[in-house]
Amino acid sequence: MCGIVGYLGSQSAAPILIKGLHQLEYRGYDSAGIALNCESESSFQLFKAKGKVSNLESIIPDEVKMRDNMPVAGIGHTRWATHGEPSTANAHPHLSMSGEVVLVHNGIIENYKELKDQLIDRGYTFQSQTDTEVLCNLVDLYYQQNGKNLRLAVVQALNKAIGAYAIAVMEQKDNQHIVCARKASPLVIGISEGNDEFFIGSDATPMVEYTHKVIYLDDEQVADVRLGHEVEIVNLDQSLAEFDVKEVDLDITALTKGGFPHFMIKEIFDQPHCLENCMRGRVVRLDDGTYDIKLSALHNFKAKLIRARHVIIVACGTSWHAGLIGKQLIEEMCRIRVEVEYASEFRYRNPVIEKDDVVIAISQSGETADTLAAIQLAKEKGALVFGIVNGVGSSIARAADTGIYIHVGPEIGVASTKAFTGQVTVLTMLALALGHALGTISEEYFQQTCHELTQIPLKMEKVLQQNDAICLLSTPFTFARNFLYLGRGYNYPVALEGALKLKEISYIHAEGYPAAEMKHGPIALVDAEMPIVFLATHHELYQKIISNMQEVQSRKGRIIAVVTEGDQEISKIAQATIEIPATLNALVPLLSVLPMQMLAYHVAVKKGLNVDMPRNLAKSVTVE
Ligand code: GLU
Repeated sequence: MCGIVGYLGSQSAAPILIKGLHQLEYRGYDSAGIALNCESESSFQLFKAKGKVSNLESIIPDEVKMRDNMPVAGIGHTRWATHGEPSTANAHPHLSMSGEVVLVHNGIIENYKELKDQLIDRGYTFQSQTDTEVLCNLVDLYYQQNGKNLRLAVVQALNKAIGAYAIAVMEQKDNQHIVCARKASPLVIGISEGNDEFFIGSDATPMVEYTHKVIYLDDEQVADVRLGHEVEIVNLDQSLAEFDVKEVDLDITALTKGGFPHFMIKEIFDQPHCLENCMRGRVVRLDDGTYDIKLSALHNFKAKLIRARHVIIVACGTSWHAGLIGKQLIEEMCRIRVEVEYASEFRYRNPVIEKDDVVIAISQSGETADTLAAIQLAKEKGALVFGIVNGVGSSIARAADTGIYIHVGPEIGVASTKAFTGQVTVLTMLALALGHALGTISEEYFQQTCHELTQIPLKMEKVLQQNDAICLLSTPFTFARNFLYLGRGYNYPVALEGALKLKEISYIHAEGYPAAEMKHGPIALVDAEMPIVFLATHHELYQKIISNMQEVQSRKGRIIAVVTEGDQEISKIAQATIEIPATLNALVPLLSVLPMQMLAYHVAVKKGLNVDMPRNLAKSVTVE
């Protein structure tokens, strides 16, 4: 987690770093800090504050913010604490005991205790409880021993460190120099058009405003970034590494709230447009009016995908819920057995994976540590790894054999919304295309479903029009202490996702269940205090879900139901109904999840909570 930024150039560094930290704040917000290395100063200037980046901003003096026209190096960090409470002392950057090296770090150094003891034996003392300060002093130790060669010191230290890291390091003696490195945590270097400025970031968002030329660092690589020089990258054995400078394609408007009060609601409203982007060039209408699905991943790996006897989907959180929908889609359309696994569990068991299996890894950021580890395991066992990610150029995108980007643009709100519908859309396209190729679905089914898929963005607009009504109906539920979400078939994963959204941002306990399971336990919780969200759209189990609803009604539970437009029956039972347009059963989640997102959002806003940065959470979970 956590956000790292860096700047090397002649502009005033502090505002660039602060702005970058604001853009990365979704990754962690326990504390923030920056370190500047400026010609006019004899030591690093360090500013740190507990809490949000705005707290840090308020303690930086104006003369520091306005310093201009002299070469300066700066690094910054917004923390998601793993070792040591969120406090100013534990905030990054961490200064080495000698004061000559300063470092920011994302990740966990697993053997920090052992390294710390060794450093204490050599006389090092520590100001914080973090694993990061240990790494900083370890770099310092080698730096002092090797004649103050920072790059070499970083390489030597990283050869001793076990764990995950993205780091940026500066040395006091050279204010035109930053060394950075990564292993299992992302790091990007931006290069200005004139080659006279460098930017460092946990992702490309803080730099797109200045440059589109970027280098994505690979695992166990150390980059030497020096003003007036080309970037040089070495591996941990010190051999020179080859690298590409890539064009980053990121729309800067996606990084602003665009008139909405929060990123989350903006991203909810972005969904129709996002899905159009996701399907562009993939669901195509041919001259004769029929549809086809063109996925390069399927084209290039067709034989292997068609041969797949077994699909294993690995994911975490919201992506795991998308995976549960993917299972139903693939089993229904392709008749291939699908398992959905939590990546964190999968990676530590000895799962049965065979050579002809396909492992689909789903992750918004493409950096999820557990999912990345699951991929590695799958590759070792010889399975084909298929990535479904949003983060272009991310670690998972690079580690997978093939895959499909969801192309919904950067998602800033910590609670995932548009990435979920993007993932489900990609899974739908994949299942349809594969089913078509396998002949497990009829041409008529394929054509009808493709057509209906193209109508989803329009139908989403209709659901979004009910935002004000959902805001209104959410008021009494802000006081609830527990919620149940119930759905069947394709709506069961949506129930899980609805409960997760509410938990994440409103801190109300919520559980999702398959509706019929209710009577095997959860019904004991139902009383007049308990709101129950039913996903009760028309499908073959409609009458059965009405019976489930009646069971709840007889126990005085308060029912909010998501129904198909024009439904007459359920409004007689439910306290509140939200209508969604009719669509094919397999596509229902793309519409029925929107009320879940809006309901959670409004409940959280009414409780006065920070929906974009919920407590204890962070986007892009790069620690296991
Ligand atoms: N392990 C480090 C700490 O607790 C870094 C955490 C982060 O990635 O923000 O300070």
